[in-house]
Amino acid sequence: MKLDIKELITLADKATGKQDHLLLEGVSKDTRQKSENALYLPIAGERFDGHDFLLDAIKQGCTATIWQEGKELPAELPEDFPVLYTTDTVEYLQKISKFYLKKINPVVVAVTGSNGKTTTKDMIECVSAANFKTYKTQGNYNNHIGMPLTILAMEESTEVLILEMGMSNYGEISLLSKIAEPDVAVITNIGESHLEQLGSREGIAKAKLEIAVGLKQGGLFIIDGDEPLLSHVKGENVLQVGFGDSSTLKLSNIKTDAKGVSFTLEEGTTVYRIPMLGRHNIKNAAYAIAVGHYLNIEENKILEGLESLKVTSMRLEMKSGKKETLLINDAYNASPTSMIAALETLSELKDYSIKVAVLGDMYELGSNEEEMHRNIANHVDETISHVICVGQKGAWIADELNKQKRKNLEVIQCLTKEEAIKPIEKLLSKDTAILFKASRGMVLETLISTFLEEE
Ligand code: ATP
Ligand code: MG
Repeated sequence: MKLDIKELITLADKATGKQDHLLLEGVSKDTRQKSENALYLPIAGERFDGHDFLLDAIKQGCTATIWQEGKELPAELPEDFPVLYTTDTVEYLQKISKFYLKKINPVVVAVTGSNGKTTTKDMIECVSAANFKTYKTQGNYNNHIGMPLTILAMEESTEVLILEMGMSNYGEISLLSKIAEPDVAVITNIGESHLEQLGSREGIAKAKLEIAVGLKQGGLFIIDGDEPLLSHVKGENVLQVGFGDSSTLKLSNIKTDAKGVSFTLEEGTTVYRIPMLGRHNIKNAAYAIAVGHYLNIEENKILEGLESLKVTSMRLEMKSGKKETLLINDAYNASPTSMIAALETLSELKDYSIKVAVLGDMYELGSNEEEMHRNIANHVDETISHVICVGQKGAWIADELNKQKRKNLEVIQCLTKEEAIKPIEKLLSKDTAILFKASRGMVLETLISTFLEEE
């Protein structure tokens, strides 16, 4: 960002110190980082109060500060140091981000959903960057502080801004949507994360739908067309993207191989291709294509953009294993929805006669966790030959599968990752594909590394 302190003063309650010819080039809330010519944002947290670190911020290059009224300034502070007073520093941050956004005025694309936000955001960027100067949320800067900081971090020349919006409770997405006033809003899916706070999937859907609160008049609303909890959302500006017939933008002709997936949209003849696995990624790509069409990007550029996608590590990442085994690393995290999606991906893989699912614990599922693990068993279809469950919660999946007494399925239950090494080793071959999936806390990638092809 580049904002004159005069512009910032208009949004503050009052200001002291030197008030002219000061150009601020960023906002910093972290005094451990260099931040030349930045505005310091002190946040009063539970354990630390950013107001205690103003002098450190100045050492790192900050040339002005936001300040909560009533807090004491450090005695050593030079008298002419610019201070912008407000009752709530985070609210002020949100205000200036909105001001800056209006000034730059890019096309804003907002992305929320239980799963697939980051993937979809990256895909939209690949498509949008073909024609427009595009900026997107970095890392997980997707909440009431991170999103305003994202807005303020974009350069003045930005033409398309892609904002990831995260939440853990009601009211959060609507706040973000009101700040961003998106031209396009996307809900990737409704899953189970934050079920503990929101009580039900209906609750989650309601919270995600808040993304439409700030949607510009005539803006485009792209949603998961296969989600019954969103099927009531209809209208001229709504695009329901999905595999089912009720979708208004239907995905068809899906083909999967070890290099990725190809598909078409509606009756269209264009065959899109993404260098990654998974039905859910096809849908994420379709969201990006819909945004590309909204931005009037030519079809060949959309195709090129999608083909240039880089797979984020540990998200259905294809790896070569020992004895030419295909290893699929989806160990970044897991919820029931994403585990089911990963199992579907495995079953759709052609050319592999031995298909192995290594499934670990899923955390933070609340009081229904046992039932949710057990339900995973119903999504292991007959194309999968081996399921290796790891961990204490994973054991519920194994137990449920054992109850089903299936003929062509071998179920192995291991309490630890170490126990799983031997049975997996026996299955390595060029005809074998192995999926690894569990919650972050399992750190399942350490198991995968045992089977990687030596370089
Ligand atoms: P986080 O909340 O951790 O930031 P996110 O919403 O950004 O997650 P991604 O990081 O893009 O999600 O993807 C995480 C996992 O979610 C993927 O590995 C995949 O298993 C699953 N996933 C991705 N897209 C979808 C989708 N459209 N529907 C269901 N599951 C999906
Ligand atoms: Mg994310």
